[in-house]
Amino acid sequence: FTTDGDASYSYANFDPLHPPPYTEERAKAGFVILTRNSDLHDLRATLRQLEDRFNRRYNYPYVFLNNEPFTEEFKKLTTSLVSGNTSYGLIPHEHWSYPSWIDTNKAAETRVRMKDIIYGDSESYRFMCRYESGFFFRHPLLDQFDYYWRVEPSVEFSCDIRYDPFLLMQKRGLKYGFTISLLEFEETVPTLWKTTRDFMKEHPELVAQSNTLAWVTDDNGERYNMCHFWSNFEIASVKWLRSEQYMTYFDYLDKAGGFFYERWGDAPVHSLAVAMFLKKEEVHWFEDIGYYHGPFYNCPNAKALSPYCHCNPADSVHLTGHSCTRQWLVLPDSA
Ligand code: GDP
Ligand code: MN
Repeated sequence: FTTDGDASYSYANFDPLHPPPYTEERAKAGFVILTRNSDLHDLRATLRQLEDRFNRRYNYPYVFLNNEPFTEEFKKLTTSLVSGNTSYGLIPHEHWSYPSWIDTNKAAETRVRMKDIIYGDSESYRFMCRYESGFFFRHPLLDQFDYYWRVEPSVEFSCDIRYDPFLLMQKRGLKYGFTISLLEFEETVPTLWKTTRDFMKEHPELVAQSNTLAWVTDDNGERYNMCHFWSNFEIASVKWLRSEQYMTYFDYLDKAGGFFYERWGDAPVHSLAVAMFLKKEEVHWFEDIGYYHGPFYNCPNAKALSPYCHCNPADSVHLTGHSCTRQWLVLPDSA
């Protein structure tokens, strides 16, 4: 690691092979972890890696969120592992339950009908997806942040992160950062695209002129091609999710009921919002951040980074047909 400050460093020329020199500068940012008490030991392994690979040098704070109170053991064994401040938030019941307009019988029928699809029979998974789509960023504990980094129990960070990704976001005016993109299971989102198109028809003024909708459709908007950013890893702008555009879109989806009458994931929801509201230059692929969430890896292919990693570059999902990252990269710049 270099430790000399260099005020002349320009993030416009950022190159992960030659990271910026370490400085004391910090963004208003931190980690957000939605988790259960029962995830404690899986989470501890993740936190240890995140600290060793990155945060021991940067000491960013952590916000843990749960729909049930965290136990004293959970708080003790997470706080003791990390170098940043920790806070523990309880999710209000209205954010983790059915809104008044949802027919709970129809929701229950849906869970039976979808029992053979991954998490199709799960009620709590749907509360989770709705929460991650529309509520986590409104939690008061996130008022302290301009940027959040979402982390989940059991994920791995397989490379040294030799710069501050939050500062990269800030200096470059980035709004959304990802490591892995994938194809969604169509059965989980049969009407998400139609609902999104209806939203665009009703609110054309909210859709960006320079958008990235070309990434999510292969037939000029007829159908959703299922491309999405895998939202278990995200480094993104809190202000962007709190924007009128995003909030109006979430409310529109929430009214349509697909979080319960289908099994809409927060990943396609965030991704369609990126596609409508952001230009390519506001979105960043963290190619160099080694990351594993079963069963997929992101592992940098640059040989010069391998000494800093414990993953196999050949395992990186962006090299396969499951990923949509290549399609992202070839999108034209908006300028
Ligand atoms: P998957 O990645 O889609 O297989 O789903 P996960 O089981 O990893 O859940 C996604 C995130 O939500 C993880 O951070 C979980 O810890 C969290 N999560 C899922 N279900 C619940 C729940 O019922 N309560 C809480 N507090 N967190 C949950
Ligand atoms: Mn997960």
